[in-house]
Amino acid sequence: MSTTIAANIAVINERIARAAARAGSDPESIRLMAVSKTVEPERIRMALEAGITLLGENYVQEAREKIPSIGRATQWHMIGHLQTNKVKYVVNLFDWVHSVDRAELAQELNKRALQNDRRLNVLIEVNVSGEASKSGIAPQQATGLARLISTLPGLKLQGLMTMPPYPDNPEDSRPYFVALRNLRDEIRKAAIPGISMDELSMGMTDDFEIAIEEGATIVRVGRAIFGERIKKV
Ligand SMILES: *Cc1c(COP(=O)(O)O)cnc(C)c1O
Repeated sequence: MSTTIAANIAVINERIARAAARAGSDPESIRLMAVSKTVEPERIRMALEAGITLLGENYVQEAREKIPSIGRATQWHMIGHLQTNKVKYVVNLFDWVHSVDRAELAQELNKRALQNDRRLNVLIEVNVSGEASKSGIAPQQATGLARLISTLPGLKLQGLMTMPPYPDNPEDSRPYFVALRNLRDEIRKAAIPGISMDELSMGMTDDFEIAIEEGATIVRVGRAIFGERIKKV
């Protein structure tokens, strides 16, 4: 099992390097996140032994059970939809939150971060597809949220995240990745002080190479590392 996980990671790293070469970007500038929702600590440790430094979790309750047993030596990123009443736990478990999609959530994260003497790295999650079922802020509202976050001393805005509809074909995701990059460029033009727009968190098992071709800096990969999830989430 551990050899499978290590082999999977080696294959993905090679695919990342090839996609980066096609895009003319430095493979070192792209970080591979292992998405470990539903994966038990033992297999997460195997991924860490195989060189993973970035882990992503979706659910606060699951993270509260797992993260303390694995430890904070690695970077933990919250990538799932976040209810405001769960924020109190998030600040002590995670280094980054990818799913900031509303002012109320940003303000609560800021409050808790300051209470804990921390500065949380955050990304704005954008619903580029406009699907009603998806979380994320509408693209037209992203610049406004970036301005708000720039005034919150407990948060450091690092860029944008998106999750397109599940693709039948990896190419289906490309327009959404292009849209996120264009939005990033637009927010950069607004020259908001105190924020960074360097990170684009986009691309999963089915489409991470397309995402890299379009400028992803963090790809979030679960199934290609750990295998199919038993629970369909
Ligand atoms: C589950 C999940 C992933 C990883 O998906 P895979 O298809 O297993 O690679 C990435 N990002 C988010 C937000 C997720 O919920």
